[in-house]
Amino acid sequence: MNAPLPRPPTVRTTCPYCGVGCGVLAQPDGHGGAVIAGDGDHPANRGRLCSKGSALGETLGLAGRLLHPMLRQGDGSLARVSWSDALDRVADGFKRIVARDGPDAVAFYLSGQLLTEDYYVANKLMKGFIGSANVDTNSRLCMASSVAGHRRAFGADTVPGTYEDLDAADLIVLVGSNAAWCHPVLFQRMVRNRRERGARIVVIDPRRTATAEDADLFLGIAPGMDTALFCGLLVHLADSHTLDYGYIDAHTTGFENALARARTIAPDLAATARVTRLPPTDVRRFFELFSSTPDVVTCFSQGVNQSAQGTDKVNAIINCHLATGRIGRLGQGPFSLTGQPNAMGGREVGGLANQLAAHMSFVPDDIDRVRRFWNAPRVAPREGLKAVQMFDAVARGKIKALWVMATNPAVSLPRAGEVRQALAKLELFVVSENVLSNDTVNSGAAHALLPAATWGEKSGTVTNSERRISRQRAFLPEPGEAKPDWWIVTEVARRMGFAEAFDFRSAADVFREHARLSAFENGGRRDFDIGGLADIDDSAFDAIDPVQWPLREGETQRDLRRDDRRFFANGGFYTSDGKARFVAPEMPVRKAPKTREFPFRLNTGRVRDQWHTMTRSGLSARLGAHLPEPFIEVHPTDAKAMELVDGGFARVATRWGSCVLKVVVSDRQRRGSLFAPIHWSDATASAARVGELVMPETDRHSGQPDSKATPAAIAPVRFAYRGFALTRRLLDLPPETWWARVAVAKASGLLLATNDGARIWRDRARQMFGDGAELAEYVDEQRGIYRAAAFVAGVLTGCLFIGPAAAAPQWDAVKALFEAETLDEAARRVLLSGRSADGLASAGPIVCACFGVGLATIRDAIQSGTAGSVEDIGKALRAGTNCGSCLPELKRIVADADAAKAAIAAE
Ligand code: SF4
Repeated sequence: MNAPLPRPPTVRTTCPYCGVGCGVLAQPDGHGGAVIAGDGDHPANRGRLCSKGSALGETLGLAGRLLHPMLRQGDGSLARVSWSDALDRVADGFKRIVARDGPDAVAFYLSGQLLTEDYYVANKLMKGFIGSANVDTNSRLCMASSVAGHRRAFGADTVPGTYEDLDAADLIVLVGSNAAWCHPVLFQRMVRNRRERGARIVVIDPRRTATAEDADLFLGIAPGMDTALFCGLLVHLADSHTLDYGYIDAHTTGFENALARARTIAPDLAATARVTRLPPTDVRRFFELFSSTPDVVTCFSQGVNQSAQGTDKVNAIINCHLATGRIGRLGQGPFSLTGQPNAMGGREVGGLANQLAAHMSFVPDDIDRVRRFWNAPRVAPREGLKAVQMFDAVARGKIKALWVMATNPAVSLPRAGEVRQALAKLELFVVSENVLSNDTVNSGAAHALLPAATWGEKSGTVTNSERRISRQRAFLPEPGEAKPDWWIVTEVARRMGFAEAFDFRSAADVFREHARLSAFENGGRRDFDIGGLADIDDSAFDAIDPVQWPLREGETQRDLRRDDRRFFANGGFYTSDGKARFVAPEMPVRKAPKTREFPFRLNTGRVRDQWHTMTRSGLSARLGAHLPEPFIEVHPTDAKAMELVDGGFARVATRWGSCVLKVVVSDRQRRGSLFAPIHWSDATASAARVGELVMPETDRHSGQPDSKATPAAIAPVRFAYRGFALTRRLLDLPPETWWARVAVAKASGLLLATNDGARIWRDRARQMFGDGAELAEYVDEQRGIYRAAAFVAGVLTGCLFIGPAAAAPQWDAVKALFEAETLDEAARRVLLSGRSADGLASAGPIVCACFGVGLATIRDAIQSGTAGSVEDIGKALRAGTNCGSCLPELKRIVADADAAKAAIAAE
């Protein structure tokens, strides 16, 4: 008998989702999958993973992958071609258009999902060899305002602190950051500090998000008024004599101006409370907490950045830290929490249209330095077009060739509908992708589809929010003809005539050049310096541990003393005089007012268990069970006024388009505001591409779009029937049906709503499941019920359940039977009842993704007295005992139950 094959070794890599940058251990299973665990040695997470990271093993299949290069043919179809033909077509196209229309007629649109090495070669090709700075990235939608704010204040895009500051702070202020859902592992670290050291947490957000569940103080601020709140704080710090004049005098300029401006915006506590629409007592408590707590970290993310005044908000926060000298010391500082896994790596490379390379900008000295380093023929002389401008230029025909890598602009950009139309105008549209179908690919505009390797297959580096560079390592082979992005760009560059400058043979080659450029003529003049890694050999690159910069020539991580890993405790800013700049922010104003037609403000954001446009996270059944449908959150008073009901549907419209979304009525939402998640697209729902609704207004410093405040209207949409379909293959529904695609084990799941009755669906079922299927049916036309199960050769291949909207069929039990595939007689009988074979009630929407514990199960445990606290729920059901991502929701469920009990007792 043959001995079993040894299992492939476990590989240390990094999570591909958020900017926390958690270390992951991947143990390939030999069948294209892998067992995933947290890396206990990685400093970012010490073994913890959130629900998304834990489910990575469920997202590794090859279904739906783009595996071969494809080119548009003369008849309009896409056909598989060789890599050589595809690369020639792309290179020839870019060369031809640049020669005819100049370098600014072409552009690259990159992604925070790319590795640093991918970013580096793309940036080098466009800025050094094509001669344009039209390289921008989806990071523009994420944290460009933080970059601009850092550069205005510090003279460089420097994050001063480290994650250890969150362990050591006595006060953590979270502004516009739903960290409990968007940076879960880091948030649990903050909660641990609160639990074990007594740190206080203040949450500032217009929505009472899951993050607020752990707050000592929640400030439900009026949308867009963060600048006013921090101006008020600066005034309070000055008037309460909490300023550090030693630091201000020695290391900063512009304080008097900034304070004078702050006094005009928020002259005192009462004025601050008025303009922010916060209770004066809460404002006072926040101000006193901040002024009396030296060790304070202020974290901010999309709620601050995604704003037409985002850069001013960032600077208003930084002003308060500069004014108190609370920066760059253990437990102190402003802290931008980056959204994407490698937005920071992209910033280090310079992969934004207003950066040149390696934290250098478009000033003559830097341009000359980069020209000499790259030996480049034509370095871009000025900034390029930022994302929204770039796609405007595509629409106007100014940009004629565009290469999109690892992102889905037809979903994610503001006015996504217009963006999709604009793509059709391109003379050359190249898409590097790992999926065969998403809204950008499906736009039909692409002339070339290039199959890119993805997480698990590619190798290189990413940098997280605390400047820590970690390896993403391949643990699976590149499938089909998929290739790493750095290789694809390098091959195009060679074909464009730049072979000598693009002689990279590996990601390690690219990394070494990137590290050398960071140190080139640096001498401490630039913050970003990883010269210590410039001569690393291939095996050392393969083995490298997570490493935090700055890391100068001859130094290693272990040589640096603790405080040397932070910036600015003793000044040393990257401005001409080495001093930080206080910035006097502008009075916060709304350029896009609400109107009679659009009386609400639409805020957009993320949910806990999905990522971006769901091309990866949407493959996990576990993650899909948390919030399976696209929704709009509405305050109860607004819902009543607009005749919206919880669980019903609404059309949300703005000047740019409309969506139909499930209604969630919640007092966590602010009156007058609506919230919708960004994740669904035309590939995953019938009418939920929320980017289509978002206005194109941008911050004038950063170019970041304001995705949080589009004037919007909302109206009810009624469907008479609800239901679901489960099939073994993807199913299309008639256009008038509302649907959302949900990952389900061994099936394609569709939740649907319709005005078509049982008889119409009965006729459709035969077409949907095919002539060869044996149908078991239950029909009650009078009550509007139709249920069908299709079998082929005894195997369950499809289910369709339709019922009245008021008593919508539940799919939990049917999903479980569907997973079994072959059913015995008893299971067949029970199938059409929609009840579970064991008679147990549905678990309800999943709260704990790790252990699949549903809301109904948790409520039952509370009601029966089995559990009275979050800890009890953990003991009884295991919910919340693994990654901790659901702990804020568990707290809310317990609090709601306690409130309900108290209300009953009071009656
Ligand atoms: S917090 Fe979650 S999504 Fe973010 S890096 Fe860690 S495991 Fe990945």
